[in-house]
Amino acid sequence: MACRGFGESMTSEQELATAEAAAGIAAEAAAQAAEQELAAAQVGCGEVGVAVPTGGHPGGVPRQRHGGARSVGFRPGGGEAAAAFQERTGIKAPRIIAWEITRSCNLSCAHCRAAAEFGHYHGELTLDQIKAVIDDITTISNPIIILTGGEPLMRPDIWEIVDYCHEKGCMPVIGTNATLITDEIAGKMAAHNIPRISVSIDFPTAAEHDAFRGQPGCFAEAIEGIKTAKRHGVGVQVNTTVTTENAARIEEVHDLAESLGVDAFHIFMLVPTGRGSDLLDKELPPEEYERVLTWAYHRQKTSPLHFKPTDSPHYYRIIRQLAKAEGKKVTREEYGLDAMTRGCLGGITFSFISHVGDIQPCGYFDMQLGNVKEQPYSAIWEKSQVFNDLRDYSLLKGKCGACEYRAVCGGCRARALELTGDYLEAEPYCAYVPPGYENN
Ligand code: SF4
Ligand code: SF4
Repeated sequence: MACRGFGESMTSEQELATAEAAAGIAAEAAAQAAEQELAAAQVGCGEVGVAVPTGGHPGGVPRQRHGGARSVGFRPGGGEAAAAFQERTGIKAPRIIAWEITRSCNLSCAHCRAAAEFGHYHGELTLDQIKAVIDDITTISNPIIILTGGEPLMRPDIWEIVDYCHEKGCMPVIGTNATLITDEIAGKMAAHNIPRISVSIDFPTAAEHDAFRGQPGCFAEAIEGIKTAKRHGVGVQVNTTVTTENAARIEEVHDLAESLGVDAFHIFMLVPTGRGSDLLDKELPPEEYERVLTWAYHRQKTSPLHFKPTDSPHYYRIIRQLAKAEGKKVTREEYGLDAMTRGCLGGITFSFISHVGDIQPCGYFDMQLGNVKEQPYSAIWEKSQVFNDLRDYSLLKGKCGACEYRAVCGGCRARALELTGDYLEAEPYCAYVPPGYENN
């Protein structure tokens, strides 16, 4: 597999500047280039992730938020190992790794990426194997590690994993369904310095949420878990998977999250892989997708929460289109991290490790690029041809390849893979047609 050299990596950065300048958004290109410096703790999408807040968003509403790695001064990918790795290879170090430390789960949610069930899964990484992988990861970076599942709290050694992440200079956060959070567990989260957890709530009422998740009572348990975590001073992010069934209810879920006093609200656009592939008919059509993301742009202006769409790379195109219509530029000062990051970060600064050690660009990207039992994570991150393809935006095909926003958006590669068999093909759920593309 080819190792991408420094010169080749710079090509995509230069392409970004060229493309954005061509689109009349050169200032944003500069902001994007500064992303390296920011070492943003933006969660890579593709996972029930836990983001890390930074200041500013459209409208500039000041927010007092709680938890998150940056709130404790942590800069993922900001350490010496990451700088040395980038200088040696020309490749950005991973800043966020979502790690499915178990696939075992006490729920059976309809749209679960992992299609997880209760019970032990053969081949799960042992504590020693996990520690060895963390040792290797920290030779190239100091990322945020999202401990997820399954339900990560099902793993009895989770606190040893958390402690080892801290010990090696990484920042662990937890993605959980919250139904197992008792006072004792929340106290452990606080004692083991978990800055934030994420919890999925998909509907504003118990009946709808329980039906969608396939587990009676899980809404009430999750709400109680959120309140318990907050009581112990643990930051909470509410995640909502948007489908045709709840698209009209997102405002109400936002308001519920706000009333619970959580710190962040992230909407996840359904990615139809894993058990979620059964929900293909519940994926929003491109026009509706566009409407929800346009709503999100405007709602961000008044929300007191750190509010962000995820798994929706074209949001970064929509931001720029709407800002332009308002006579604004998407600057770091006004738009915060939204101005500094990219839509799809799979393979760029984000990756996923499965319960058995398989590495993927994200949890939804259904292709194994190597296994940490056979090869170091660091070698796979550096040398995987798929990772390197994803880093070269000039390889994108179809309308994504022709799009002036490809450097800030890139389209969802997991959706392209699932629906076309080619991860470089056009994002199937984007309504945008680049100027002149129809004539090609
Ligand atoms: S491939 Fe799709 S789901 Fe995965 S990180 Fe990219 S946008 Fe998110
Ligand atoms: S065409 Fe592709 S790159 Fe352009 S905005 Fe749509 S998804 Fe993004």
